[in-house]
Amino acid sequence: ANVFFRPIEKINAVIESYPKGIAGFRRYLEIMDTDPDIQDAPNARTVDSLSGEIRFDNVTFGYEKERPILDGISLSVRPGETVAFVGPSGAGKTTICSLLPRFYEVDAGSITVDGMDIRDLTLESLRKQIGIVQQDVFLFSGTIRENIAYGKLDATDGEIWEAAQRAHLSDVIQAMPEGMETVIGERGVKLSGGQKQRMAIARMFLKNPPILILDEATSALDTETELAIQKSLSELAVGRTTLVIAHRLATIKNADRIIVVSKDGIAEEGKHQDLVAAGGIYSRLHEAQFGS
Ligand code: ATP
Repeated sequence: ANVFFRPIEKINAVIESYPKGIAGFRRYLEIMDTDPDIQDAPNARTVDSLSGEIRFDNVTFGYEKERPILDGISLSVRPGETVAFVGPSGAGKTTICSLLPRFYEVDAGSITVDGMDIRDLTLESLRKQIGIVQQDVFLFSGTIRENIAYGKLDATDGEIWEAAQRAHLSDVIQAMPEGMETVIGERGVKLSGGQKQRMAIARMFLKNPPILILDEATSALDTETELAIQKSLSELAVGRTTLVIAHRLATIKNADRIIVVSKDGIAEEGKHQDLVAAGGIYSRLHEAQFGS
């Protein structure tokens, strides 16, 4: 599940030595984010305002060439659709999602967004179209405002407050000693796990990407926080193509489609009720994880 985590680790190392100047910092991040082996094609195009249609066509990929993790998988996702990936640990759910922003390059087959091969797009513009919300929220030492604005560096005050509100964070911020200017992080106020997640959600409302990848938390939050976050996330997903690496029953049940990934590839696809009724892998997983 830590495919996304790798670039963040590098970022954390950089933070210490780069505390000032968020714009320069961001520029640095964009470089750090990029695997040196993965580069823009000579005639790469810039994309913006995708509708969010995604296709994987016969995609084969392995972290080591001899050991493919994905072996010829195909799938397509409609604009605005929410798809939940479920399946046993290690089946490749995170790997599938990490290929879309080109953190890794496919070995064979292709991935397209709105009909364009992702290898033909500039990395920067592709990644601008994709928002990732993961379990380990990356916050830096700075004010709440700076941390939210990280989603859109030129955001106005109004936009930042609106994002906070949509992430159900504005009450929390107003209750803080210095509101938006409160410093968080090592030398500042510590945020709870749930508040950190809502910071990540606020950033995404600001970034406003047509495609979202949600790496759902496996660690438990209290029920009330859990519900509040579920609510913010489902509001965030409205009108965006959303891929969820799903661990929670609520997300899975409400997904437009569930894709069951097993070691042999995509094993089942459909809505919750249909997959339960089919009595296959999903119904057994569901029973084992959540009871009947
Ligand atoms: P989980 O539910 O535990 O998050 P998953 O279905 O998301 O699992 P992946 O994280 O995609 O599974 O992992 C698929 C396989 O790829 C596993 O065998 C894993 O060990 C391997 N793997 C994942 N990331 C890497 C990596 N960076 N380098 C090498 N192998 C990796």
